[in-house]
Amino acid sequence: MDTTIFNYCPVCEMKLENQLIPTEYLDVSHFFCSEQCRRLFENHPHLYIGLPGSGCAVKSRLKKVSRTNWLALKNPDKSSESLDAAFTPLMGVEHYELCSGRLIVAYDLLQVSLKEVADHLVNHDIQTSARWYHLLRLSYINYVEENERANLESQTPKGCH
Ligand SMILES: [Zn+2]
Repeated sequence: MDTTIFNYCPVCEMKLENQLIPTEYLDVSHFFCSEQCRRLFENHPHLYIGLPGSGCAVKSRLKKVSRTNWLALKNPDKSSESLDAAFTPLMGVEHYELCSGRLIVAYDLLQVSLKEVADHLVNHDIQTSARWYHLLRLSYINYVEENERANLESQTPKGCH
């Protein structure tokens, strides 16, 4: 058994300790540090392990795909204190700050998307604005980011062995 593939989470590259979350893909077991990383892998496995036969994953070639974006919060003043606790278990967020009611977030699209950040915050009782134009904007950004992931996933790597 090749144990090297079990030492690190293939999505966030964090060292795996005790808590392993497994999934099966193409008859191979993969292990993750969190449900977040497992879900991402299941949606776009080839971002992290490469296309069959190419042996080269986008993740190992690009390392990360940095994005900075913002979310409108429903109660920015009320939410500011719970932000640290909410963000702690979330993978892929590099920086965040509250500025004039907007939550600015810098993140790695290979680990988390703006929509996934928003969903995670809602689970931690931090509501994002329900105004229609914010919802529309968020669903548009989600569409773009999911497309970007799908495009990255289907790219045939060049000059990579
Ligand atoms: Zn992980």
